[in-house]
Amino acid sequence: MTTHVETDEHKALRSAVSALGKRHGRTYDREALWSEAAKLGYLGVNLPEAHGGGGGGIAELSIVLEELGAAGCPLLMMVVSPAICGTVIARFGTDAQKTHWLPGLADGTRTMAFGITEPDAGSNSHRITTTARKDGADWLLNGRKVFISGVDIADATLIVGRTEDARTGTLKPCLFIVPRDAEGFTRRQIDMELHAAEKQFELTLDDVRLPADALVGDEDAGLLQLFAGLNPERIMTAAFAIGMGRYALARAVEYARDRTVWKAPIGAHQAIAHPLAQAHIDLELARLMMQKAAYLYDAGDDVGAGEAANMAKYAAGEACVKAVDQAVHTLGGNGLTREFGLASLITAARVSRIAPVSREMILNYVSHQTLGLPKSY
Ligand SMILES: Cc1cc2nc3c(=O)[nH]c(=O)nc-3n(C[C@H](O)[C@H](O)[C@H](O)COP(=O)(O)OP(=O)(O)OC[C@H]3O[C@@H](n4cnc5c(N)ncnc54)[C@H](O)[C@@H]3O)c2cc1C
Repeated sequence: MTTHVETDEHKALRSAVSALGKRHGRTYDREALWSEAAKLGYLGVNLPEAHGGGGGGIAELSIVLEELGAAGCPLLMMVVSPAICGTVIARFGTDAQKTHWLPGLADGTRTMAFGITEPDAGSNSHRITTTARKDGADWLLNGRKVFISGVDIADATLIVGRTEDARTGTLKPCLFIVPRDAEGFTRRQIDMELHAAEKQFELTLDDVRLPADALVGDEDAGLLQLFAGLNPERIMTAAFAIGMGRYALARAVEYARDRTVWKAPIGAHQAIAHPLAQAHIDLELARLMMQKAAYLYDAGDDVGAGEAANMAKYAAGEACVKAVDQAVHTLGGNGLTREFGLASLITAARVSRIAPVSREMILNYVSHQTLGLPKSY
């Protein structure tokens, strides 16, 4: 894929990461790739230089994830660790939190998971009930989370909870750093139909006692801080989806060029060629919107980035699902064999349609926020 909207530095980063990805390939060892990418400075490319990062933005970080995905070896934790958690701590953390967490998140020696989804809230994150209560100088957290990725390999999880305003009784969203081995913090692995290196967990927080400085940022500006982390998450999910779509498409194109059952290779039949061309166009368009979202976010336009990040995530999720579906179909029976490795992407691709915000919730957002149509819920 070529693009003309990137700087020479971006192009150089893209080709260097692509070379790294190709060395690891589809049968990659997640840990080995994580530490090599970290050593090369790719994992913390968006984090501030003062704290060991590369001083770039989400534009650069999304290039890293997209290229690893396109080589068949995506690192899912990049979506949460440097992109959400690193961003939130860099923008809103105390100096002590920055010094404690950012160098490790930047050089990959520390990883953070992110937990907002709850069993009884789902897409309606206004309904989350994980609650933080003051107990002397400490916080006590109680609640449940579901589908949280990589908690087992993360040193801590950034948990979205709420604190009760003693005066008004209203609940305000707040972010807490919960260490993996905190007492009362338990996890149960969810049996997912996904061939992925990272696992998902259901979490229980039962009177988890945390020191005062586990709270990230300002108790009164929780929502704003949360959105600062969620835009990078959407942009990074778009990168994840575009990378996977490109990987699948490339396998299908290779196959369609060679496989011959009549006179010419199957790729000569337009019924095979055109859907692959459409998949390529859809992925390119999604990437363009992802680049716009990253540009706006890195320029400090949180509001503009919000709309673009949602649209990029939507477009990338749809493009990925279609590209994978068409790739599997192109391989005929081989599309479903383990040897060719495409069938397992069918479920993996669907993740980008559901998480971190579903296709329908983005359509709702655009209907209401962009088009001004009334709300049904
Ligand atoms: C592999 C994987 C990894 C994940 N990792 C994380 C993680 O690390 N951290 C984390 O916090 N979460 C994570 N999630 C959770 C993910 O963000 C949620 O699954 C997602 O937000 C949807 O919530 P839900 O599953 O409860 O679906 P629900 O909210 O129950 O939605 C079910 C269906 O109803 C539709 N729907 C709901 N409301 C409306 C409406 N108003 N209008 C129209 N349609 C609607 C949805 O679009 C969806 O199709 C992960 C999920 C997966 C699958």
